[in-house]
Amino acid sequence: MIPRRKTRQVTLGDKEHGFVKIGGDAPVSVQTMTAGYTYEIDKCVAEIHKLAAAGADVVRVAVPEKKDTDALRQIIKQVQVPIVADVHFHFQRALEALEAGVHKIRLNPGNIADKQQVLQVIDACKERKVPIRVGVNEGSIVERRDKQKRMKELGGVFSNDKHGHMLAIMIAKLEEYLDIFHERDFHDITISAKSIDPVLVIKAYTEISKRFDYPLHLGVTHAGPKETGTIRSVVPLGHLLASGIGDTIRISYANDPVYEVEDGLELLYILGLRERKGAELIACPTCGRIQVDLFTLTQAVRKKLKEEIALPIKVAVMGCIVNGPGEAEGADVAIFAGDRRGIIYVQGEKVANVPEEEILERLLIECKKFQDKVQRGEAKLGEKVVDILPPDPIGELGSGFDKIAAGNVEKITQLTVTK
Ligand code: SF4
Repeated sequence: MIPRRKTRQVTLGDKEHGFVKIGGDAPVSVQTMTAGYTYEIDKCVAEIHKLAAAGADVVRVAVPEKKDTDALRQIIKQVQVPIVADVHFHFQRALEALEAGVHKIRLNPGNIADKQQVLQVIDACKERKVPIRVGVNEGSIVERRDKQKRMKELGGVFSNDKHGHMLAIMIAKLEEYLDIFHERDFHDITISAKSIDPVLVIKAYTEISKRFDYPLHLGVTHAGPKETGTIRSVVPLGHLLASGIGDTIRISYANDPVYEVEDGLELLYILGLRERKGAELIACPTCGRIQVDLFTLTQAVRKKLKEEIALPIKVAVMGCIVNGPGEAEGADVAIFAGDRRGIIYVQGEKVANVPEEEILERLLIECKKFQDKVQRGEAKLGEKVVDILPPDPIGELGSGFDKIAAGNVEKITQLTVTK
């Protein structure tokens, strides 16, 4: 288990929407944000349901206009997950969102800087015990209205140490803003310091974690399309989480936010920071030894496992019996493809040898049977690993129908390959 930095804990939510704790010893939570308009109540509710079903612990909505905060009351009544109102530019939206029953407010020091306005929001949150996220995004903390000031700041940024200068600005803005909160003895705070630059994200959160004990909301802003945004996001977030920094995360893609939730959860699962829900799938990348259409099979297996398996069964889909057994080590259920066939193992025991077209169906049957056994207490997840004697690396075993048919696989691996 990765040791995590100690932070204060904040709680958001209520009985109807559940309570989510952030920081302290709470598991790292996954957040996302709706992509549609909040004032379109039915669509917004449907999107929140979809995101919650995907595993989002908290969902944020934008409230740029009064019609959005007006819609919020109806939305909150119809959903079962805590809702955060993302407030930009106008503090009044924060007050309206609080009236509507929102569970957390996000403020950006770059956009709401007037102290009296900030104090009004703090007082209203304190009264309702609603936490506030202070988010110092790189893109908005640089003064945009005063061009000269902006040039001075950016000039410094680009002089010789980009990260050094921007970090100094981010931390200074944060300290300045938090002073307003401390004036009211308000500590129900989480902090974010997002940037599009993954290296700056790592440095900013690392520096902030040394200075404040508030829970940290990790994220990369404007990470881009999922295809490239995944790497831009998980590199800094993975680095920080593996260093024990981070209490809640949001991955952001220019795509359906369901992917943000799925990838955020997967990141936490593989780091051992969250207990996995549903099956874990590993698969080989394939190579010249492959003898079935493994890419199609893997996608089909992934879809079925997601729909039909609730327990965190580890499933391996391997393209051959040459390296597959070693690579599938630790799997509860594994399939090794042979010559247009699949040999299925459940915790080290061979249970089936089926033609390629039957692999998916049979694999799912075996996963369900194993799940039932675990639920009845007759088997334990991860208790026995796949334990198959791999073939000796002699000859040209593994590629080609002829060699498999000639029985080389049988002889060397002690597997029974029947046709
Ligand atoms: S399991 Fe077999 S087919 Fe897949 S990558 Fe390894 S050696 Fe290649």
